[in-house]
Amino acid sequence: MIANQFDVFLFDLDGVIYIGNEPLLGAAEGLARLRKENKIIRFLTNDPCTTRSKIVQRLKHMNIEAYEEEIVTSGWTTAQYSKNKNIKKAFVLGNDDLHWELLQAGIEVTDVASCDAVIVGWDSSVTFGEIQKASKLIHQGASFIATNSDKTFPTPKGPMPAVGAMVEAIRIPTGKRPVIVGKPYPSMFQEATKNLDSSLHIVMLGDNPETDILGAHQVGLHAILVGESAKPYPSKKDFRNADAQIYNLSDLFDKEAQLKKWIRPEYPWPESIKPGVAGIVFDEKGRVLLMRRSDNGLWGIPSGHVEPAETVNQAITREIWEETGLEVRVKRLIGVYSEPVSQVFPYPNGKVSHFVTNCFECQIVGGNLNKKHWETLDVQFFNINELPEALLSMHPKWLEDALEQQKISFIR
Ligand SMILES: [Mg+2]
Repeated sequence: MIANQFDVFLFDLDGVIYIGNEPLLGAAEGLARLRKENKIIRFLTNDPCTTRSKIVQRLKHMNIEAYEEEIVTSGWTTAQYSKNKNIKKAFVLGNDDLHWELLQAGIEVTDVASCDAVIVGWDSSVTFGEIQKASKLIHQGASFIATNSDKTFPTPKGPMPAVGAMVEAIRIPTGKRPVIVGKPYPSMFQEATKNLDSSLHIVMLGDNPETDILGAHQVGLHAILVGESAKPYPSKKDFRNADAQIYNLSDLFDKEAQLKKWIRPEYPWPESIKPGVAGIVFDEKGRVLLMRRSDNGLWGIPSGHVEPAETVNQAITREIWEETGLEVRVKRLIGVYSEPVSQVFPYPNGKVSHFVTNCFECQIVGGNLNKKHWETLDVQFFNINELPEALLSMHPKWLEDALEQQKISFIR
């Protein structure tokens, strides 16, 4: 049974333990049995409109034993995060419980221009004027922190806008990406497990693949989906696919229930897939053009993004002109590369993208290597038998494919 395989159980609340004020079938009994077996329990909720003590009371009314130190809410975690970041004054869009959590952490709630951060939680009475104020403060240099990024919450009338909608209303005009504290980002998982021995086996149980399952897998924890049978995501490596699915908590003790054990791939979970281009350029001596990147110091084939309204051919000729000063034309397509281990890139702002890169062989038709163009550390031609050691991992393979295709075209 699954219960025997873990020492620590992290539970999402809404949709796993209760819905509204109603406990879910098997929840109270399942939790009581885990406690009897001395398992460690934590409750993690993205709900920023409550406090840890209110959740303890709510669970007590459902005959579920719980302690404040076992509860991790997005509001409380936001207060801990802000305190650790030395935030003293914050402009807050959130309810009284979020204000209370921040005050407990020594953070003054204010709207003065000198505030350190804008903190966004849930406030059903927020006005457009407050959104304008928040945007202005962020423009003036305040940090942008959000309790969570859930776009909707379920109601009997259908899904209604949630914190994520308010976050977007501020993100779009400021162009600033917020720090998001709630699931699927790591802060709440880190708070929930911070004093636990590293030898303990930990599992997250949640009903939302986009927050509970993705978040647990991103920090390297096992994750079980709770609820009605859901269709898995098409790729087995998708971080949102759970290690197991159970109908309710009593299934943790079912002798038949098995873990499939999702295997964590060697790359971070990408938020988006983007088209990219790369260009292999040989000079008249058969040497290959490489650039040394300023962000990681590695050498690589010139590459870049496809911008709106341009073809991939236009994108690579523009990139090479912008970055080296050489005018090129596309000779042939070498290959389209999308292998995630080498094609998923985290950016300094935290965004992670997966590139599908169209790699071309390009021929020089004009221009000169010109330092004025270089945003990179260095650009030069290398003999293909003397390539630098610090070379981007996928580029030797692309080069090999280009040389192979040259041979084929020669034979023809
Ligand atoms: Mg839930």
